[in-house]
Amino acid sequence: MSAYEKYLRNNRLPHILCSGCGHGIIMGAITRAIEKADLDQDRTVVVSGIGCSSRLPGYMDFDTLHTTHGRALGFATGVKFAKPELNVIVIMGDGDALAIGGNHFIHACRRNINITTIILNNNVYGMTSGQFSPMTPQGHFATTAPYGNVDRNFDICELSRAAGATYVARGSAYHAVMLTDLITKAIFNPGFSVVEAISQCPTYYGRKNKQGTAVDMLNAQKENCVTVAASAKITSDQMQGKIIIGELHKSEAPEYTAVYRNIVDSLQAKEMK
Ligand code: SF4
Repeated sequence: MSAYEKYLRNNRLPHILCSGCGHGIIMGAITRAIEKADLDQDRTVVVSGIGCSSRLPGYMDFDTLHTTHGRALGFATGVKFAKPELNVIVIMGDGDALAIGGNHFIHACRRNINITTIILNNNVYGMTSGQFSPMTPQGHFATTAPYGNVDRNFDICELSRAAGATYVARGSAYHAVMLTDLITKAIFNPGFSVVEAISQCPTYYGRKNKQGTAVDMLNAQKENCVTVAASAKITSDQMQGKIIIGELHKSEAPEYTAVYRNIVDSLQAKEMK
Protein backbone atom coordinates (compact mmCIF):
# COMPACT_ATOMS: atom_id res chain seq x y z
CA MET A 1 0.00 0.00 0.00
CA SER A 2 1.37 3.46 -0.91
CA ALA A 3 1.71 6.28 1.57
CA TYR A 4 -1.22 7.91 -0.21
CA GLU A 5 -3.62 4.98 -0.04
CA LYS A 6 -3.58 4.51 3.70
CA TYR A 7 -5.27 7.92 4.03
CA LEU A 8 -8.15 7.03 1.71
CA ARG A 9 -11.57 5.68 2.58
CA ASN A 10 -11.67 3.19 -0.22
CA ASN A 11 -15.28 2.32 0.54
CA ARG A 12 -16.25 5.88 -0.49
CA LEU A 13 -14.74 5.53 -3.96
CA PRO A 14 -15.32 6.16 -6.81
CA HIS A 15 -15.33 9.91 -6.17
CA ILE A 16 -17.75 12.40 -7.68
CA LEU A 17 -15.19 14.74 -9.25
CA CYS A 18 -15.23 15.28 -13.02
CA SER A 19 -12.41 13.70 -14.99
CA GLY A 20 -9.58 16.20 -15.33
CA CYS A 21 -10.53 18.12 -12.16
CA GLY A 22 -7.46 19.41 -10.31
CA HIS A 23 -8.88 18.66 -6.88
CA GLY A 24 -7.73 15.03 -6.85
CA ILE A 25 -4.14 16.09 -7.48
CA ILE A 26 -4.39 18.54 -4.60
CA MET A 27 -5.89 15.91 -2.30
CA GLY A 28 -2.84 13.79 -3.15
CA ALA A 29 -0.57 16.69 -2.19
CA ILE A 30 -2.43 17.18 1.11
CA THR A 31 -2.15 13.52 2.09
CA ARG A 32 1.52 13.36 1.10
CA ALA A 33 2.14 16.48 3.21
CA ILE A 34 0.41 14.82 6.17
CA GLU A 35 2.69 11.82 5.65
CA LYS A 36 5.81 14.02 5.41
CA ALA A 37 4.81 15.93 8.54
CA ASP A 38 4.29 12.56 10.26
CA LEU A 39 0.93 13.57 11.72
CA ASP A 40 -0.90 10.98 13.78
CA GLN A 41 -3.84 9.88 11.62
CA ASP A 42 -5.98 9.41 14.75
CA ARG A 43 -5.24 12.90 16.04
CA THR A 44 -5.81 14.79 12.83
CA VAL A 45 -9.14 16.41 11.97
CA VAL A 46 -9.99 17.53 8.43
CA VAL A 47 -12.84 20.04 8.09
CA SER A 48 -14.61 21.36 4.99
CA GLY A 49 -17.59 23.48 4.01
CA ILE A 50 -19.61 22.96 0.83
CA GLY A 51 -18.47 22.59 -2.76
CA CYS A 52 -16.48 20.25 -4.98
CA SER A 53 -13.33 20.80 -2.91
CA SER A 54 -15.27 20.27 0.28
CA ARG A 55 -16.09 16.71 -0.78
CA LEU A 56 -12.42 15.75 -0.38
CA PRO A 57 -12.49 15.02 3.38
CA GLY A 58 -15.20 12.46 2.67
CA TYR A 59 -12.57 10.38 0.87
CA MET A 60 -9.89 10.94 3.52
CA ASP A 61 -9.54 8.54 6.44
CA PHE A 62 -9.28 10.96 9.36
CA ASP A 63 -11.83 12.38 11.74
CA THR A 64 -13.63 14.59 9.25
CA LEU A 65 -16.32 17.23 9.38
CA HIS A 66 -18.31 18.21 6.28
CA THR A 67 -19.99 21.37 7.53
CA THR A 68 -22.14 24.20 6.17
CA HIS A 69 -21.25 26.56 3.35
CA GLY A 70 -18.53 29.02 4.33
CA ARG A 71 -18.47 27.88 7.95
CA ALA A 72 -15.63 25.35 7.91
CA LEU A 73 -13.33 27.69 9.84
CA GLY A 74 -15.99 28.32 12.47
CA PHE A 75 -16.31 24.57 13.10
CA ALA A 76 -12.53 24.10 12.94
CA THR A 77 -12.03 26.88 15.49
CA GLY A 78 -14.39 25.04 17.83
CA VAL A 79 -12.46 21.77 17.37
CA LYS A 80 -9.13 23.48 18.01
CA PHE A 81 -10.43 25.27 21.11
CA ALA A 82 -11.92 22.09 22.57
CA LYS A 83 -8.80 20.03 21.89
CA PRO A 84 -5.79 22.23 21.05
CA GLU A 85 -3.58 19.12 20.89
CA LEU A 86 -5.29 17.94 17.67
CA ASN A 87 -3.95 18.78 14.21
CA VAL A 88 -6.68 20.67 12.38
CA ILE A 89 -6.68 21.00 8.60
CA VAL A 90 -9.35 22.89 6.67
CA ILE A 91 -10.07 22.40 2.96
CA MET A 92 -12.14 25.08 1.25
CA GLY A 93 -12.97 26.31 -2.23
CA ASP A 94 -12.49 29.90 -3.33
CA GLY A 95 -16.19 30.75 -3.24
CA ASP A 96 -16.71 28.90 0.04
CA ALA A 97 -13.72 30.57 1.74
CA LEU A 98 -13.93 34.11 0.42
CA ALA A 99 -17.60 34.87 -0.29
CA ILE A 100 -19.98 33.35 2.25
CA GLY A 101 -17.03 32.40 4.47
CA GLY A 102 -15.09 35.64 4.00
CA ASN A 103 -15.71 37.01 7.46
CA HIS A 104 -14.77 33.72 9.14
CA PHE A 105 -11.64 33.67 7.04
CA ILE A 106 -10.27 37.13 7.85
CA HIS A 107 -10.94 36.69 11.56
CA ALA A 108 -9.24 33.28 11.65
CA CYS A 109 -6.21 34.97 10.06
CA ARG A 110 -6.37 37.79 12.61
CA ARG A 111 -6.56 35.39 15.56
CA ASN A 112 -3.61 33.29 14.39
CA ILE A 113 -5.26 30.09 15.56
CA ASN A 114 -3.13 27.05 14.76
CA ILE A 115 -5.09 25.69 11.80
CA THR A 116 -3.76 24.77 8.36
CA THR A 117 -6.07 26.05 5.66
CA ILE A 118 -5.87 25.00 2.04
CA ILE A 119 -7.97 27.02 -0.40
CA LEU A 120 -8.53 25.25 -3.70
CA ASN A 121 -8.83 28.09 -6.17
CA ASN A 122 -10.47 27.16 -9.47
CA ASN A 123 -11.90 30.67 -10.02
CA VAL A 124 -15.52 29.51 -9.92
CA TYR A 125 -18.29 27.82 -7.94
CA GLY A 126 -18.02 24.36 -9.48
CA MET A 127 -20.56 22.27 -7.59
CA THR A 128 -23.47 24.65 -8.17
CA SER A 129 -22.75 24.84 -11.92
CA GLY A 130 -20.24 27.58 -12.52
CA GLN A 131 -21.34 30.85 -10.94
CA PHE A 132 -18.64 33.52 -10.63
CA SER A 133 -16.78 33.62 -7.33
CA PRO A 134 -14.59 36.26 -5.64
CA MET A 135 -11.70 34.65 -7.56
CA THR A 136 -13.19 34.92 -11.04
CA PRO A 137 -10.98 37.46 -12.81
CA GLN A 138 -12.60 40.64 -14.08
CA GLY A 139 -13.89 40.15 -17.62
CA HIS A 140 -13.89 36.35 -17.40
CA PHE A 141 -17.04 34.35 -17.98
CA ALA A 142 -19.23 32.30 -15.69
CA THR A 143 -22.79 31.02 -15.88
CA THR A 144 -23.85 34.11 -13.91
CA ALA A 145 -21.50 36.41 -15.85
CA PRO A 146 -22.39 35.71 -19.51
CA TYR A 147 -21.06 39.13 -20.59
CA GLY A 148 -17.92 38.98 -18.44
CA ASN A 149 -17.47 39.35 -14.69
CA VAL A 150 -17.63 42.98 -13.54
CA ASP A 151 -16.04 42.50 -10.09
CA ARG A 152 -12.31 42.52 -9.48
CA ASN A 153 -11.02 39.34 -7.87
CA PHE A 154 -9.20 39.05 -4.55
CA ASP A 155 -5.56 38.14 -4.18
CA ILE A 156 -5.99 35.34 -1.61
CA CYS A 157 -2.41 35.49 -0.38
CA GLU A 158 -2.30 39.28 0.00
CA LEU A 159 -5.63 39.17 1.83
CA SER A 160 -4.34 36.45 4.18
CA ARG A 161 -1.11 38.29 4.93
CA ALA A 162 -2.89 41.60 5.54
CA ALA A 163 -5.44 39.92 7.83
CA GLY A 164 -2.69 38.39 10.00
CA ALA A 165 -1.98 34.83 8.84
CA THR A 166 1.53 33.83 9.88
CA TYR A 167 2.26 31.47 6.98
CA VAL A 168 1.07 32.18 3.44
CA ALA A 169 1.96 30.28 0.29
CA ARG A 170 0.65 29.57 -3.17
CA GLY A 171 1.06 26.48 -5.32
CA SER A 172 -0.72 24.79 -8.18
CA ALA A 173 -2.00 21.36 -9.16
CA TYR A 174 0.62 21.26 -11.92
CA HIS A 175 3.40 21.88 -9.38
CA ALA A 176 2.19 19.07 -7.13
CA VAL A 177 5.58 18.27 -5.58
CA MET A 178 6.13 21.90 -4.60
CA LEU A 179 2.56 22.08 -3.34
CA THR A 180 3.21 19.09 -1.05
CA ASP A 181 6.25 20.86 0.34
CA LEU A 182 4.33 24.11 0.93
CA ILE A 183 1.50 22.30 2.73
CA THR A 184 4.02 20.44 4.89
CA LYS A 185 5.58 23.75 5.94
CA ALA A 186 2.13 25.16 6.61
CA ILE A 187 1.38 22.21 8.90
CA PHE A 188 4.56 22.92 10.88
CA ASN A 189 3.74 26.62 11.30
CA PRO A 190 2.48 27.12 14.88
CA GLY A 191 -0.28 29.54 13.87
CA PHE A 192 -2.80 30.21 11.12
CA SER A 193 -1.48 29.04 7.77
CA VAL A 194 -2.98 29.56 4.33
CA VAL A 195 -1.98 27.71 1.19
CA GLU A 196 -3.73 28.78 -2.00
CA ALA A 197 -3.75 25.79 -4.34
CA ILE A 198 -4.57 26.73 -7.93
CA SER A 199 -6.82 24.05 -9.42
CA GLN A 200 -8.48 23.53 -12.78
CA CYS A 201 -12.21 23.17 -13.36
CA PRO A 202 -12.44 22.12 -17.00
CA THR A 203 -16.19 21.50 -16.70
CA TYR A 204 -17.26 25.06 -15.91
CA TYR A 205 -14.53 27.70 -15.67
CA GLY A 206 -12.43 26.13 -18.41
CA ARG A 207 -15.34 25.58 -20.77
CA LYS A 208 -16.85 29.05 -20.25
CA ASN A 209 -13.48 30.70 -20.81
CA LYS A 210 -12.37 28.50 -23.73
CA GLN A 211 -9.34 27.22 -21.87
CA GLY A 212 -9.35 23.82 -23.57
CA THR A 213 -8.92 20.45 -21.95
CA ALA A 214 -7.75 19.67 -18.43
CA VAL A 215 -4.29 19.04 -19.88
CA ASP A 216 -4.36 22.47 -21.57
CA MET A 217 -5.33 24.03 -18.24
CA LEU A 218 -2.51 22.24 -16.44
CA ASN A 219 -0.08 23.41 -19.12
CA ALA A 220 -1.36 26.96 -18.59
CA GLN A 221 -0.48 26.61 -14.88
CA LYS A 222 2.97 25.46 -15.94
CA GLU A 223 3.39 28.45 -18.29
CA ASN A 224 1.88 31.13 -16.07
CA CYS A 225 3.31 30.28 -12.65
CA VAL A 226 6.66 31.78 -11.67
CA THR A 227 8.52 30.87 -8.49
CA VAL A 228 9.35 33.55 -5.93
CA ALA A 229 13.04 33.25 -6.82
CA ALA A 230 12.43 33.51 -10.57
CA SER A 231 10.06 36.45 -10.16
CA ALA A 232 12.84 38.47 -8.52
CA LYS A 233 14.92 38.20 -11.70
CA ILE A 234 12.38 39.33 -14.29
CA THR A 235 10.88 42.73 -15.09
CA SER A 236 7.41 43.88 -14.12
CA ASP A 237 6.47 43.81 -17.82
CA GLN A 238 7.51 40.16 -18.01
CA MET A 239 5.45 39.48 -14.87
CA GLN A 240 2.22 40.66 -16.53
CA GLY A 241 -0.30 37.82 -16.35
CA LYS A 242 2.05 35.66 -14.29
CA ILE A 243 1.25 34.15 -10.89
CA ILE A 244 3.90 33.87 -8.17
CA ILE A 245 4.10 30.48 -6.46
CA GLY A 246 6.07 29.47 -3.38
CA GLU A 247 6.33 30.77 0.17
CA LEU A 248 5.02 34.33 0.20
CA HIS A 249 4.91 35.27 3.87
CA LYS A 250 6.14 34.00 7.23
CA SER A 251 5.87 35.80 10.56
CA GLU A 252 5.48 35.08 14.25
CA ALA A 253 2.60 35.98 16.54
CA PRO A 254 1.09 34.50 19.70
CA GLU A 255 -1.14 31.51 18.95
CA TYR A 256 -4.77 32.09 19.89
CA THR A 257 -5.58 28.99 21.96
CA ALA A 258 -2.29 29.39 23.88
CA VAL A 259 -3.11 33.01 24.75
CA TYR A 260 -6.56 31.95 25.89
CA ARG A 261 -5.11 29.09 27.96
CA ASN A 262 -2.70 31.51 29.68
CA ILE A 263 -5.57 33.77 30.70
CA VAL A 264 -7.56 30.83 32.09
CA ASP A 265 -4.50 29.49 33.95
CA SER A 266 -3.69 32.87 35.50
CA LEU A 267 -7.30 33.38 36.64
CA GLN A 268 -7.40 29.90 38.15
CA ALA A 269 -4.09 30.54 39.93
CA LYS A 270 -5.53 33.73 41.43
CA GLU A 271 -8.60 31.83 42.68
CA MET A 272 -6.35 29.29 44.40
CA LYS A 273 -4.64 32.00 46.47
FE1 SF4 B 1 -13.92 19.73 -10.49
FE2 SF4 B 1 -15.26 21.68 -11.77
FE3 SF4 B 1 -16.12 19.17 -11.91
FE4 SF4 B 1 -16.31 20.51 -9.62
S1 SF4 B 1 -17.38 20.99 -11.54
S2 SF4 B 1 -15.61 18.38 -9.86
S3 SF4 B 1 -14.44 21.78 -9.64
S4 SF4 B 1 -14.17 19.95 -12.72
